[in-house]
Amino acid sequence: MGLLKGNLVSLGLGVCSSHPVPIPVIVTFPAGTPTCFSEKMMNLNQGSIGVASCGHTGTPLTFSMSVFEEKLGSHRVGDIGVLSSGTYTLTTGAATVFAGG
Ligand SMILES: [Zn+2]
Repeated sequence: MGLLKGNLVSLGLGVCSSHPVPIPVIVTFPAGTPTCFSEKMMNLNQGSIGVASCGHTGTPLTFSMSVFEEKLGSHRVGDIGVLSSGTYTLTTGAATVFAGG
């Protein structure tokens, strides 16, 4: 069945360590794939760029190896991303649309 797809309303939660003291951050995605949608929201793929609440950017580290959005692996709820220093976990996304392993 796979994991729920990440889309434009997805949030990632993580810790950014590019600060004197690491801070908890929320990661949002200003853009997704222009042609692939879940629940009318653009999907995220391994090339999607997230923006953490501290201002640093994040990029997907894990993604589907079998489901693709515009030829790049689908970034899904539960997948991990890397911040400039630190990581996030994608925690929300589509409620009803899944992408396989
Ligand atoms: Zn930061």
